[in-house]
Amino acid sequence: MSLRSRAIQIDAFGGPEQLRLVEREVGEPGPGEIRIRHHAVGLNFIDIYQRTGLYPNALPLALGMEGAGVIEAVGEGVSHLAVGDRAAYASQPPGAYCERRVMPARSVVRLPEAIDFETGAAMMLKGLTVQYLLRGTQPQGGLQPGDTILFHAAAGGVGLIACQWARAMGLVLIGTAGSDEKCALAAEHGAAHVINYRREDFVARVKEITGGKGVKAVYDSVGADTFMKSLDCLAPFGLLANFGNASGKVPPLDVGILGGKGSLYVSRPTLFTHIATRERTQAMADDLFGMVMSGQVSIRIDQRYPLEQVAQAHRDLEARSTTGCSVLTL
Ligand code: NDP
Repeated sequence: MSLRSRAIQIDAFGGPEQLRLVEREVGEPGPGEIRIRHHAVGLNFIDIYQRTGLYPNALPLALGMEGAGVIEAVGEGVSHLAVGDRAAYASQPPGAYCERRVMPARSVVRLPEAIDFETGAAMMLKGLTVQYLLRGTQPQGGLQPGDTILFHAAAGGVGLIACQWARAMGLVLIGTAGSDEKCALAAEHGAAHVINYRREDFVARVKEITGGKGVKAVYDSVGADTFMKSLDCLAPFGLLANFGNASGKVPPLDVGILGGKGSLYVSRPTLFTHIATRERTQAMADDLFGMVMSGQVSIRIDQRYPLEQVAQAHRDLEARSTTGCSVLTL
């Protein structure tokens, strides 16, 4: 059986004007694949890197990396999902901005009944990212309750999840954000200290908050604008995890400077290394679902757009005018 689906694709890299609504046929899943009918799709800053070509992909390119919906068909060899299951995923290659799609089953997990589709769509890529950052991307000796960390863009989709997750781990999170309103939101979600880095020198403030010691780890997704200053916020042996480039790509690094700044560590992690196997994906998703269902982490959706308004969603994300998560409704 062949079904129709509206989808968003680009034929050339560039601005939001490249996002084009198309209609296409969706067939049956092959071995190891499923067909999902989306009820909601998550928006992520990574979608912008793919639209602009910062993260290279072949054209034409369907965008989107997380979604939630109902399994409509299951291919040969897929045993962890069945027709009618509620499901959610974060996956690459992209292609989630659509009503339905055929995709590898490996990245897809069953969505607990207690979690609605919009929440499922909003939280998979962002929540699994916080899971591997805070639980699995730690400085030497690990993070212990009472340790202080710095998390940039703390009022964004990933950021607000991180504020709450860090609080649940007993960590003292210093969050940066681009306005006083965003700082207040990060504080409401568990940031112990907040810094408006558009008007305050965040290095000086971190030194002040930590009594000159610096933090054990910095989680930096802003990239070009913050990377070098983030190094200056670290205590000796501290870890800088650069996991994004919202302000642009980080220039090449002279590793020699890490010695002079206190035997520092730098990592450039990505979610897709962490969810490379189905077992790992399930274990991380179980952890995330547990955090959400226990109320320790709530998923805040502040922006909703119909599929055909996806260009506006991209403009808002790039303009730094969003907070929390954004979803496409279907
Ligand atoms: P956000 O909702 O956090 O949006 C990005 C935020 O970055 C903005 O709201 C803004 O917050 C901040 N920012 C700082 N400088 C700029 C700039 N020049 N232009 C635009 N935004 C800027 O997005 P997501 O939650 O989707 O993702 C957060 C980050 O995490 C992204 O960089 C993303 O690429 C990264 N990521 C990485 C993953 C990985 O595994 N490596 C996986 C998932 C996400 P403010 O105004 O407060 O500064």
